[in-house]
Amino acid sequence: MKKLQSSIQFIKGVGPARYEQLKKLEIETVFDLLWHMPRGYVDREAVTPISDLRAGDQTSIKAKVMGTNIVRTRRGMSLFKALLQDDSGLITAVWFNQPFLKNSLKKGMNIYVSGKVSCMGNQLEINVAEYDYLDGEDSDRIVPIYPLTEGISQKSLRRIIMAVLKDHLESYPEILAEEIRQEMGLCDIGFAFRHIHSPADRHSYLTARQRLAFEELLIFQLGWQHRNAQIKKVTGLSLQEKDDLLLKVRKNLPYTLTRAQERAVKEIFSDMESLQSMGRLLQGDVGAGKTVVAALATAKCVSSGFQAAIMVPTEILARQHLASLQKFFAGTDVAMACLTSGTHPTAREQILAALGSGEIRIIIGTHSLIQDDLIFLDLGLVIIDEQHRFGVRQRAKLSSKGHTPDLLVMTATPIPRTLALTLYGDLEMSVIDELPPGRKEILTKYVPAAARKSVYEFIGKQLEKGAQAYFVCPLVEESQKQDLQAAVSLYEELSREVFPDNKVGLLHGRMKPAEKETIIQSFKRGEIEILVTTTVIEVGIDVPAATLMVIEHAERFGIAQLHQLRGRVGRGEKQSYCILLGNPQTPEAVQRIKAMEATNDGFILAQEDLKIRGPGEFMGTRQHGLLQFKVADLAVDIELSEKARRLAKDFLWPDYLHQYLQLKFKNGLEGAGD
Ligand code: ADP
Ligand code: MG
Repeated sequence: MKKLQSSIQFIKGVGPARYEQLKKLEIETVFDLLWHMPRGYVDREAVTPISDLRAGDQTSIKAKVMGTNIVRTRRGMSLFKALLQDDSGLITAVWFNQPFLKNSLKKGMNIYVSGKVSCMGNQLEINVAEYDYLDGEDSDRIVPIYPLTEGISQKSLRRIIMAVLKDHLESYPEILAEEIRQEMGLCDIGFAFRHIHSPADRHSYLTARQRLAFEELLIFQLGWQHRNAQIKKVTGLSLQEKDDLLLKVRKNLPYTLTRAQERAVKEIFSDMESLQSMGRLLQGDVGAGKTVVAALATAKCVSSGFQAAIMVPTEILARQHLASLQKFFAGTDVAMACLTSGTHPTAREQILAALGSGEIRIIIGTHSLIQDDLIFLDLGLVIIDEQHRFGVRQRAKLSSKGHTPDLLVMTATPIPRTLALTLYGDLEMSVIDELPPGRKEILTKYVPAAARKSVYEFIGKQLEKGAQAYFVCPLVEESQKQDLQAAVSLYEELSREVFPDNKVGLLHGRMKPAEKETIIQSFKRGEIEILVTTTVIEVGIDVPAATLMVIEHAERFGIAQLHQLRGRVGRGEKQSYCILLGNPQTPEAVQRIKAMEATNDGFILAQEDLKIRGPGEFMGTRQHGLLQFKVADLAVDIELSEKARRLAKDFLWPDYLHQYLQLKFKNGLEGAGD
């Protein structure tokens, strides 16, 4: 272990400058270098002649650079273009936003390029995903492509890693005994590292990958077990009502709970009453009615004499939850407050004081709740809504503000049981698998952007009948400013030209909290009939009267996001419609849109998402923070993960496990889920 922890500064080919550059890639030790995984590979032999390329192909070519130039698009992107030639023909290769390539990619060079072929005008282009320089001494057939940082080339990083493989690999501990490896069909750790960095062929790559994924999952599981063993020793709170608050709240509910909601409430209550602290995940599709369940848990907690905290990802949602809870708690004297980054400093101070004195019983807020100066008198329950937007550490931080308070996390993302077990250790799971009665399937339709007029006509007719509509603009190229522009210009077009007689509102992330609140409220009251907005409304917003949703540039959204957005309508008993406006160019985008048209079911969509996006990007699992795994992919390696979990149960603890955990998950296991 010691050798693995040694600084890379002293490795052949790494001087002080290199050291600083590698640090940017979070590489500081020999261990880090070994785990710096290629993000892809180049197979230098498997290439297609340019004349055989067709639009839609995912392909690789080897060619000579005939010339280059940089083009700026209207949207402010820069395209680096290179004209490439092989024996069979010519094609233009395009790199997005990499103008600096002009310094390294020059006329006359031989390069390897892989990516997607598309048709621009009547010319073929290849959109480059991977590329590599061919002039040089590397002679391996399959070559790794590493994530890089400025100043380091593929070639130099490859050389450094090869040196480490040669000199340091033998000090890497083999934690799996020969017989276990045999039983599970896993290769040894040395083979795994050698062939992940320099695969002899596809088969040895897969073998290597399997072993490293298992290694990560096993270490992760061992860590969980270690942590759980410690937690189990701590007893939690037993929350028992002391008054009739819960009854009063129940009486205030404007509807009867569904069977699924009642079941979830029962499960949560029984956890809350038990002396062991609760750790429960409440899963229910968009619109299933998780908020009211959370409210009842809150009431139980307050009635037992403790404070409750609800953390949500956006300010709009925090305010909405506060409003809902105020209704549910009407006629009681329970004091509650909302705290976000937009809260005025004076108000914030008052809230902090009232929390510390125990006067405020329920606090709802954003990340602001985890600030250090926020202190509770007696926090008994922590609820995290839209939990996939938070990291494990943030959850833990809020929980640490009480003495082992109960924890309820809520999500709309359907997570397979095994995956949940891996992700959340021993969180129990409750599922709301039933929508409130009277809900109608949201009718979803794709309309090509060119036929926008017909959408306006349809919306116009619905508005006459008293409907309300959302128009959602996507985030354009990661730039909030442009995001804003798109929404603002759509707002102007709709309010001035298309629907001059209707009240149109604009809502986006850059507005002041008070402005946002005013707009949302007047949309809720029905004064604003059309709300032009950005993805700020993606999660949680509940305006049951709104039945129309138009999603602009639908091709730019992933399935998870489309599903969440669409979930803003279909919340009442009226027929709702979702129109996906767009111009899908790739087969994946077409598939996503088709999937959305075909079903409203989040579970089916998740499976579809897995099929389309494949490893790594499943239903926003990236946001679950699975990035800490460099090889394993919980969405795909479900079986492997289960094997690791079982093996971990009676695994002989290597005495260096702590060191290993520290090295592998730098923030300790606490950070493992971030
Ligand atoms: P989500 O699970 O997506 O957070 P919400 O809690 O926002 O869903 O609830 C969605 C909508 O359904 C809200 O308008 C809420 O008032 C309504 N609702 C929740 N439970 C019921 C129920 N049992 N009967 C009728 N409507 C309900
Ligand atoms: Mg919700």
